[in-house]
Parts: sequence; C-alpha cells; structure tokens
Amino acid sequence: MSNNADNSVLSGLAVSGGLAAGPAFIYRGAGAYPVAEYKVAPGAEDAEVLRFRRAVASTRRDIENLMNSLRTRASSGDTKVFECHLMIIEDEFFLGEVESLVLKESINAESALRRTMDSARSKFERMNDPYFRERVRDLDDIERRLQAELAGCAKGVALELKEPSIVIADDLTPSEMVQLPQNLVLGFATNGGSTTSHVALLARALGIPAVAALGDVTQRVSAGDMVLLDGSSGRVELSPSRERIAEFRAIARLRSESSLAAAPAHPPGELADGSRIEMLVNAHHGLPTEAIVSSRASGIGLYRSEYLWIGREMEPSEDEQFEAYRDAALLAGRLGPGAFVTIRTLDIGGDKTMSGGVVREPNPFLGNRSIRYLLSHRETMLAQLRAILRASAFGRVKILHPMISCVEELKECAAALEEAKASLVRKGVPFDGSVQTGAMIEVPAAALNAGNLAEFCDFFSIGTNDLIQYTMAADRGNDAVSRLYQPLNPAVLKLVSATVEAAKKKGLPVAVCGESASNPVEGVYWAALGVDALSMSPAYIPQVAAALSRLSRRDLDEYALVPESLPAGATAAEAEQACRKWLSARVPGISEQSS
Ligand code: PEP
Ligand code: MG
Repeated sequence: MSNNADNSVLSGLAVSGGLAAGPAFIYRGAGAYPVAEYKVAPGAEDAEVLRFRRAVASTRRDIENLMNSLRTRASSGDTKVFECHLMIIEDEFFLGEVESLVLKESINAESALRRTMDSARSKFERMNDPYFRERVRDLDDIERRLQAELAGCAKGVALELKEPSIVIADDLTPSEMVQLPQNLVLGFATNGGSTTSHVALLARALGIPAVAALGDVTQRVSAGDMVLLDGSSGRVELSPSRERIAEFRAIARLRSESSLAAAPAHPPGELADGSRIEMLVNAHHGLPTEAIVSSRASGIGLYRSEYLWIGREMEPSEDEQFEAYRDAALLAGRLGPGAFVTIRTLDIGGDKTMSGGVVREPNPFLGNRSIRYLLSHRETMLAQLRAILRASAFGRVKILHPMISCVEELKECAAALEEAKASLVRKGVPFDGSVQTGAMIEVPAAALNAGNLAEFCDFFSIGTNDLIQYTMAADRGNDAVSRLYQPLNPAVLKLVSATVEAAKKKGLPVAVCGESASNPVEGVYWAALGVDALSMSPAYIPQVAAALSRLSRRDLDEYALVPESLPAGATAAEAEQACRKWLSARVPGISEQSS
C-alpha cells in the first residue's frame, strides 16, 4: 500500500481494529540474519560437529518444553506445528548434511547450517507450490532457533519478546503468531498480508490490532522505536513526538471507555424495539476461552475444525478430534442455556494447508478443497462425523458443511452422517440423534440455488469471505486485487438476498459468519437484509451489538433500501459511503469503528 506524504506515517490494510502504542519488536526469519563463514582450526572439525550437536539437542529440548507449556494451557494446546519442527530437527539426512560440510570443508557450524538450509529453501521455493512454501517457513523457524543456540544467545526470537511490544514483521504464519507470548503482543504491523488472510483472521480472533501490506515497515523501524498503530484505519505512525504519544494514548483510553459505555445492558443483538438478531462467535481450537465466554454471545456460530489439521503431517485421530469438539460443546454450554456450537466439517485447502496429505493442485481455491476433499476421503469424513456426533452427547452441537456447491454434495453429506450414526449405534456410543446440519453459502452457485439446497439441510450460514472472492473472482489473500474485494458490490448483495429469501421460504434460519459480519456498516446491513444471526470474532460483538441496539426493525428495513436508492450504475464504494452515512446519522461514532 502507499506511504503517506509525511513519511513518518505509513498506510496499510486495516486487518484488525483497535489502537496500540508501544516499542517495536522486529520479528525476522532466520534468512534475515547474516551468518559469517570461517575455517575452523585444523583438527577442530570434530569439536565443531559436537558444538552443532549440542545446539541441536538444546533446541530439541526447547521445542519440547514449549510443547509441554502449551499443553498445560488448555486453551492453546495445539502443539502439532512443533511436532513437525521436531521431525525436521531429528532428520538424519539434514543433520548429516550439516556435519559432512563441517568435516569436509572445515567450516564453522553456523555457515554449514546456513548452506544446508539455503539449499533446501531454494529447492522448495523453485517449486512455487503452497505446500513447499509452508515448509520454507518451518525451515526458517528451525534455522532461527539453531543459529540463536549456536550463537549462545537467545532461546529463539519469540522468547526474546520481554515487554509489551508491537510486532513488526515481513509476514507471519499463523503458527508464528501462536508462538508469540500473546500477553506481550500489543499489535502487528507487517510488510505483506491481506484483510482476509488467516493471519488477519487470527489477529481479529485474538482481539489484537493489526495493519498489513505496509510494504517496507521492517526497513523503516528499528527495534525499540516507539510505534503508534491504528488497526481500524490501517495507519502506522513512526517516531511520534511525546505530545503525539500522549494524545494517542488518551484517544485509545477514550475509545475503550466509550465502547464499554456503548455496550448495551441488554443481551447483545437486541434491537431498540426488543426484537433480536442472534449474536454468535467464531471460534477454533486454541482460541482463548475467556474471550468467548465473556462475549455474551448466544452460541458459537462457526467452529473452524481445520485448525486441528493446519500445518500437520498427519491427520488428527478421531479421539483427538472428539476431545476438541467435546471441549467446544462444553464451552458453548457456558454461554447459557440452549447455547450451541456449530462445528464446521473440514475446510482444508485454498490458503489453509496441511503439511502433508492434501494433494497439491495448480489452482487450489477451485480444486478439491473443503467439502470436496472430505467427500473424496470417506474415512476422514466418517471419522470426523463420528467425533462430532460423540461430542454432541456433551452439549448442543450443530454440523456445518463448508463450500457446498450443489444438492448432490448435501445428499452425500447426509448419507455419510447416517453411516457415522449407524456405526456409533452399533458400538452403543451415545450421541444426539437430532443433530442439525447446515450448509455454508459461500459459492455463488449455492446462493443462486439456495431454494433447492434448503430441502436438504436445517440452516444456512453465509461465508462472505469466500462468497465475495468467488463472486468477484478476486483472491481474498492477494493485495493486488483487494480493490475488487467488495462486500457491498451489487452482485454480492443479490446473492445474499437470494439466500435469505430462499431460507425464509423454507423457514430455515440463516446466519452470516464471514468477517464482514463484524464490520458494523456491513454486519448491520446483513441484518437489514433479513439474516437471523451474525457470527464473528468475540472482540467485535460489542461494536456491532451497540449499533444494533440503537435501531429498530423498521430502521433496518429502511437501511436495506439505501443501496437501492442510489442512481443506476452506482459503485460498491458509493453504496458503502451511503450506508455509512445513513448509519452514522443514527449511531454516532460508527465510522471510526468500521473504517
Ligand atoms: C467464509 O468464507 O466467509 C468463512 C467464514 O470461511 P473461511 O473464512 O474459514 O473460509
Ligand atoms: Mg469459507
């Protein structure tokens, strides 16, 4: 994105709202660290190999300790990425390569390690394949740890984060984000990234302000520099004056006080006339439970099960899945009587990759992703359905199938569910026999054909992230086409309206669970179009609920007509402006929360 004329202010993509002020912590991959090559003294090669082995052993211990400490934090016990790192570090071929370079060329261990890693990285990068790009990140991570160990200094960059800071990075993978001590991360500012990438979703889910696509922020900031970050407007201020820091902190305080004051006393989602839009949360394995419980949502509208798969070599077992889903069902129960969790079946593929297993395809967003993958891997599907059904004995559970494109898929899903039920019945395992099944509406074909799909499911949940990407043919993770990512484009509005209309005809409830639900201008608009529920990261519920609490159903009906009242040929930006203007007149301060 462009930099401001005042070069101390950078503009990027506003990916996760909120204000943060603090010192910069520069997070670099190993590749960014210069490594000097030198010859070891003749005869000292064996000692150098020993030094390398000690570094490996110590790094292995560090990774194991980190895994243990994650396991003790029930809410963030996903240790699978580290299992993958352990596998690499224990790989005989990799260790042998480094050691033979030290022995044959009499060079220091750091440079033998760098050469080995560089050659592995360049092989993977040349393949230009998402699977291997993921592996390059793993290699970077491991090299960083090993180099730090060899240098006898830090125990890994993530652990160097000692004080509350704004993390500045080229880009971050979800696993890197999870490794950072979240209580010390005030915000994220990255060179790359996009609004709907999974890193952005994670920042939003964790309620951490973030700005992406800043271009060269890592080059403009030094470690410890004061940085002001506005995740709602996408601005990052460098070298601010003392007065500006004080002013910024005062604004942050005011905003948090006013958002608390704006939080309605009545349950979130209640309109001014007492009618309701159900407010639900988006969750996944590893998300802190406190945020969900304190959200006062009436259920979990989307539980992204694929977080159990992402970054792993092996699929999670049925038992491991059962434990995660059971915990989610129990967690939902803490939200109140009747609260439920909507467990989405595996949505792997596209930008959500598993390290192994999923076949790599030239065009993964249009390939065998999501429900297509699951339906073509019957054992995986049956194991997941059995795990979900078993969890339904512990709380109210609904099943949601992602990326449904046609009736046939829903029929096949229903048949698989019956088979999973039958196998549990045979074994005498308890489950809720009346568990409801829903379809995600995130492919234009599904929205246009929603009337037929409604015959084969109990509810709809609209995934605007994918629906917009597929309608506009604009990759949700590609900044170069982000201008086409238009939630209020007339084509998108027609598809959402068609879905709502079809659902109403059949008496099916319909929710929106894409990120757009959490933007007050858009979320309130979906409510105006007639959706029954909005599901979002817990951090966003107060602002959307505050906006809804100031409006009646009649107001919403009027709001629904705002884009239609524009002259023919109006653009999505004009529709957005008109909606914002209408809403700002009734809900003061809304612009700041949704820009
Ligand atoms: C969506 O597409 O809007 C959605 C909620 O699913 P995901 O972001 O996980 O693809
Ligand atoms: Mg989706």
